[in-house]
Amino acid sequence: MRKTIVTVMSGICLMPLLTACGTQDDTVKSADIFAMDTYMNLKAYGRDAEAAVAEAEARIYELEQTFSVTNDASDIGQINHAGGQPVTVSDDTVSVLQTAMQMNSESNGALCISLYPVLRAWGFTTGEYRIPAKNEIAELLQSSDDTKITVSGQTVQCPEETEIDLGAVAKGYTGDAVMKIMQEHKISSAIINLGGNVQTLGSKPDGSAWTVGVTDPFAPDTLLGTVSVTDKAVITSGNYERYFTGDNGQKYWHILDPKTGCPADNGLVSVTVIGGCGAECDALSTALFVEGTERAIQHWQNSGDFEMILVTAGGELLMTESIAANYTAKKEMPCRVVHSNEEP
Ligand code: AMP
Ligand code: MG
Repeated sequence: MRKTIVTVMSGICLMPLLTACGTQDDTVKSADIFAMDTYMNLKAYGRDAEAAVAEAEARIYELEQTFSVTNDASDIGQINHAGGQPVTVSDDTVSVLQTAMQMNSESNGALCISLYPVLRAWGFTTGEYRIPAKNEIAELLQSSDDTKITVSGQTVQCPEETEIDLGAVAKGYTGDAVMKIMQEHKISSAIINLGGNVQTLGSKPDGSAWTVGVTDPFAPDTLLGTVSVTDKAVITSGNYERYFTGDNGQKYWHILDPKTGCPADNGLVSVTVIGGCGAECDALSTALFVEGTERAIQHWQNSGDFEMILVTAGGELLMTESIAANYTAKKEMPCRVVHSNEEP
């Protein structure tokens, strides 16, 4: 089950108008690609849009190779098979690892990239799902500790049994890399959707904000609402994105709680994070999902440099004060605005 793509309502309706105008500055280039095990769409407006999108596409494939957990020759493959020895990796890998390790610390271990062996035991890496025995999980959790990963310059070292996976952060980092290329090509208006991670550059060509859909976790083919953003990443982690149903009828999803090694079940079914940096928003969406409602609110109150929309298992919508003004509901549900100075 692939990650459900968040609906993006971009400037599609502008395209005939832009073509009709015909000046070079109005060029729009769009590309659909499949990479990192998900569908992606890139759309850029501007004189150099075609070259920007082509370069961005090549960069995505490059990062896919660098971060691949199934390719033994990739940076991650080498780290995972190093048997405890130091490995020299690319600047990209260093940067993603730093973001992930910082989030591991800020979330009290909720984001944990060294959970890979536990994810594999559940079958989330292959699709061959199973419910591992408690003692199997307990044993695998012993090697899941991001604080044992060291990064010094371009050298990474992990304990022998540790294996990492950047699934919670890599797409956000890739989105940032794409936006950097867009800026180098002087693109002032772009929107990309990397398997549900939406990132925007500037505003729509007509100057208005981008409208990004937020999926209803209880009915993933429909929207809960939309947010209006400029120059922002809108990144969601949800329990509907990848899951299986056990013989007992219970739903088991792909975001695990490092404390238990089981699907994180701390009161939230989806978390959308809105902020300036894709890698951070991606790391945050996964971390906050694991942290659960109260700790997610505390995390936001302590950090403050992002906005969030939480959906609780009980069907309540919680959103931080600044994004509330830019949110348009598509579904009626109880909603509460969270303030920076309130008790969670
Ligand atoms: P996301 O969709 O960004 O929330 O990332 C979810 C993916 O991150 C999963 O499919 C796993 O590959 C991986 N993952 C699951 N649980 C965790 C966790 N607690 N910390 C870090 N990565 C995780
Ligand atoms: Mg994430």
